[in-house]
Amino acid sequence: MPSRKSSDIRKGQLEDEELKKIIGCFEKEEAQLVVPAEERERILQEYHNAPTAGHYVVENTYKKISSRYYFQGMKKFISEYIKTCSECNRYKPTNQKPAGLLRTPAYAQRLETLAIDIFGPLPETPTGKKWIFIVEDTSTKWVELFSLAEATAENCAKTLIEEVLLRYGLSRRLLSNNGSQFISAVMQLTCDLLEITQDLIPVYHPQANPSERKNRDLKPRLAILVGEEHSAWEDKLPLIRFAMNTSVCDTTGHTAAYLQFGRQLRTSDDIRHDIRQVIDNDNFVPEITPYLK
Ligand SMILES: [Zn+2]
Repeated sequence: MPSRKSSDIRKGQLEDEELKKIIGCFEKEEAQLVVPAEERERILQEYHNAPTAGHYVVENTYKKISSRYYFQGMKKFISEYIKTCSECNRYKPTNQKPAGLLRTPAYAQRLETLAIDIFGPLPETPTGKKWIFIVEDTSTKWVELFSLAEATAENCAKTLIEEVLLRYGLSRRLLSNNGSQFISAVMQLTCDLLEITQDLIPVYHPQANPSERKNRDLKPRLAILVGEEHSAWEDKLPLIRFAMNTSVCDTTGHTAAYLQFGRQLRTSDDIRHDIRQVIDNDNFVPEITPYLK
């Protein structure tokens, strides 16, 4: 055989109708680790109960686990597990659909339109925090959570500029309800100076503000994660944020992390049980082929 570049081999493979079918079948699949029965419980704990998982519903938990693992009857196992999860049962969120849901326009660019909101007041933490300032990218649903002592316009504007705009770049639009922090002169001046269009969505149409939907999601999640330590919520915020950004979102069909970075965020489970390390190995296919035969 003459020596050829791997790209030429690839080209040849794709020109072969039979090989093309096989390649098409396998390459679009994510590698999954097939797990023995005694490991299943641990995986569920990792991707449902852990603070970084945040007790999401069956569908989201299934998507998270099935992108990494496989076992027979997985969906049923997950749904049975969640049905008997004591924390989920204790804080079951109401499943009511908001009346007259407005269609939010699709925004093409990441971090172009941000939705902001305030959640609280919560029990005061030892550091004097009572509020959560929520910033959400409406295109990817990426969410940032900040604890604030007071929900003032100054605090919101300062956090938005320093922690979001100076990290990800300026947005073009800012959506919020017409809460006093957001209609204040400080916020208007901030937007004017930065040439950001400010869109206020009336309180009676909260469904139109994407981050108000996050707000509803946040409440049961906080309740579960904070548990009995009511003033410990501040410490849990980064974990809740991780859970939100790594769960498949109903409206986009992807996780916020995937849409933001083009890949999933590695979990501590991914590091400890690194199945991709095996898969990404160039020699993986030649090595494994004799065993499969
Ligand atoms: Zn649960």
